[in-house]
Amino acid sequence: MELITKAPRGTQDVLPGASSEWQHIERTALSIAEDYGFREIRTPVFEHTELFQRSVGETTDVVQKEMYTFEDKGNRSITLRPEGTAGAARAVLENGLIGGALPLKVSYVTACYRYEKPQAGRLREFHQFGVEMFGASAPTADAEVIALGAAILEEFKVPNITLYINSIGCPECRKKYQEALKEYFTAHKGDLCETCLGRLERNPMRILDCKSKVCSAIAEKAPVILDYLCEECQTHFDGVQDCLKAAGIAYKIDPRIVRGLDYYTRTVFEFVSRSDALGSQATVCGGGRYDGLIEELGGPQTPALGFGMGLERLLLTLKDAGYAFPKSSVCEVYFAPMGDKAVKECFALVTQLRNGGVSAQTDVVGRGLKAQMKYADKLGARYTVVVGDNELETRKAQLKDMQTGTITEVDLDDGLYTTLYNLSLDRQLAGVAEMLGQVAEN
Ligand code: ATP
Ligand code: MG
Repeated sequence: MELITKAPRGTQDVLPGASSEWQHIERTALSIAEDYGFREIRTPVFEHTELFQRSVGETTDVVQKEMYTFEDKGNRSITLRPEGTAGAARAVLENGLIGGALPLKVSYVTACYRYEKPQAGRLREFHQFGVEMFGASAPTADAEVIALGAAILEEFKVPNITLYINSIGCPECRKKYQEALKEYFTAHKGDLCETCLGRLERNPMRILDCKSKVCSAIAEKAPVILDYLCEECQTHFDGVQDCLKAAGIAYKIDPRIVRGLDYYTRTVFEFVSRSDALGSQATVCGGGRYDGLIEELGGPQTPALGFGMGLERLLLTLKDAGYAFPKSSVCEVYFAPMGDKAVKECFALVTQLRNGGVSAQTDVVGRGLKAQMKYADKLGARYTVVVGDNELETRKAQLKDMQTGTITEVDLDDGLYTTLYNLSLDRQLAGVAEMLGQVAEN
């Protein structure tokens, strides 16, 4: 029979064999963020469209071309979130957290939706790990958020990654800069793409972020924002760099980073990978300061900043680098019953072990012994126990270690859990001993 439909273009299924990798990435990132004082926030997948128009910005690619927007049955314009910041900012504002203890630090793992041309590292449904800090204006805050991004990538030992930073100033310094840009790009008007012609009138800085070859070649020689920073913005940018240096975080300045969203002010940064797996989708993590956003959404003037890390891109670089994900086992011990009575006995045994936190499996198909052993092997069962008439009678069975072949006799009524626990402890201790041995050798 033919499938009735396929998954929509630009989406990915995470199958059971891969979900443990996702869980590992998500848990690690959230847990490191917690050490930095960030706690998880969860916001809706969809928001009112105007939230993104107001925050992400009308002149951005995201709002102009990439949003999944639809009218719901109550005739409201709804949009699937294209990024995490706007929803988090709306939520902390709406729930009065901005009036509470500041700085407020939140983290999230979310699915994001953008109508883009799917390719490696670019999907229509993708996932971001993100953090936001509200109510902190000092350069230390910028350095802290950058340090967190660096710490996560470091924990995963992401190879060949470079941190680029820039300051795009405040609305004051940007006014003069926009004028200079407008003058420069007007001289190249004939060569700019259609979208950039519109940007030239409304927000020439956006042209610097254009992905078209011609536009980016023109942008190469455009004036740079760093020459236009006001004194305060320059001092702030110097402060961020001093903190990064103090903490030993390596960075490069790239005056061409403007970031894709309108709400950024002052510090912007990107962690860029040189992994072959990513091609031109090289930015694994991007973020910056957005001091005007909360006010733009109707709240009090509140400095804020954050980053978004593309998890598909992170996963691609990790796989490319041969990262060793922790092994996930769905079966510590497999019970193979022979005969009806044994089926019930095995079912009782696995239930008991499972309730004690041991991953145990038994036959639920009615297979013969040989087929069961094949299945146990596929599951990667560490131990197997065959239970037949003999075992039922003596209440003793043989626990076989499938990796070493070692056999341990176990009592079906007593001590099974303890035996498994001790064996697993022995294995862990052997692992630690081996690790210590390697450390000693080095
Ligand atoms: P790009 O320039 O690659 O389009 P962006 O500037 O649009 O990125 P942000 O809005 O800053 O990206 O999102 C933060 C991060 O989310 C990016 O650095 C990237 O890792 C990831 N990301 C963005 N868009 C996609 C996508 N369509 N598919 C997968 N990951 C994405
Ligand atoms: Mg983009």
